[in-house]
Amino acid sequence: MKKIVLAIVLFVASTAVHAQDTAYVRSIISTLSSPQMYGRGSSYHGDSLAAQFLASEMHRLGVLPLQVDYLQHYTYPCYSFSGPVSLNINGQPLQPYVDYRVFSAARHAKPEKLARASWKKQAKDGTWIYAVDKLDTYSPIVGPYADVPVCVQVLKSALPRKVKNFNLSVPVAFQPQYHSQNVVGYIPGVVDTMIVFTAHYDHCGIMGDSVLFPGAHDNASGTAAVLDLARMASQSQPYYTLVFMLFSGEESGLLGSRHAAENPLINYTKVKLLCNIDMFCGGDEGLMVFNANSESTQPFYQQLVEQNNILHAAREIRPRDNSANSDHYWFSRYCPSIFLLTMGKPYGGYHDPYDTCLACGLNHYIPFMTLIKSLAQLP
Ligand SMILES: [Zn+2]
Repeated sequence: MKKIVLAIVLFVASTAVHAQDTAYVRSIISTLSSPQMYGRGSSYHGDSLAAQFLASEMHRLGVLPLQVDYLQHYTYPCYSFSGPVSLNINGQPLQPYVDYRVFSAARHAKPEKLARASWKKQAKDGTWIYAVDKLDTYSPIVGPYADVPVCVQVLKSALPRKVKNFNLSVPVAFQPQYHSQNVVGYIPGVVDTMIVFTAHYDHCGIMGDSVLFPGAHDNASGTAAVLDLARMASQSQPYYTLVFMLFSGEESGLLGSRHAAENPLINYTKVKLLCNIDMFCGGDEGLMVFNANSESTQPFYQQLVEQNNILHAAREIRPRDNSANSDHYWFSRYCPSIFLLTMGKPYGGYHDPYDTCLACGLNHYIPFMTLIKSLAQLP
């Protein structure tokens, strides 16, 4: 009987610790994925709203600003939605995202694509609308092309046999110098040698005013992990100086990290390692480490493998060559930089409305964080 009582107490204690350890990260993912952040893209300035929240969170955790108000400002050309989208065919409304999607014309209305379409029309303002068997994956509408900015893909199966008329409304505004910002801070260590943790906080935004792209896995999860590292490091002075950089513009082509790398706020010769985290939910198959094979980063990959041999945190830690697939890429020219990505089937969607906090699985989060903390000698 005593044994059973003890077992129950231990079980309750261990779940309590576990819940507490992921409570913070869950709350950050939930806030970033909420409709109030408009999918953290350019429409309705969702990225700036997220940046304000992240800066206030850094301040609350005792992280010091690397720039005034933690914000590193920059601009890029892009489009943003300024109202609801609608498409009626033969007087019948189609469902946005499910039946049709709005894309950059420069990327998605290329002549060869239009040539393959079984049905296509050009609206009076020049916007192409055309049928496809399968809709492309969504991405933000970006690019320096101010004329004919968008095209619309319609699912062939959603079209009537004969299209007699259509009515399309896609209110987008071109902004040649859209204002965005990275969020940057640091915690001084015993030594001024730096470990830098990075993640992108932006996502695909909102299509019109109703189809939200929450981006819980991509990359509210990595952003929350970086803040969680700051939270843990702020409890006693770390050995290394820890720098935290949260970028916007990733979904538009790694723009925020490029600006940060080329307009440095830190001395790269003092950086021991930059560790980028992008898409950190799931991980049933383990972790992938990009840029693990260079002379400067190989020792850190080895360190992760050795720690994992002791802790059995990840099923596998797989080394990959460098790739321009996330924000570490620009920094890898200046200092040792790696990118950690979870492996295994995603728990939610990808670049769609189903990448939600509820679907976002964090069951490997604590063991993976133990590995990452070992890189920075954090307890
Ligand atoms: Zn993405």
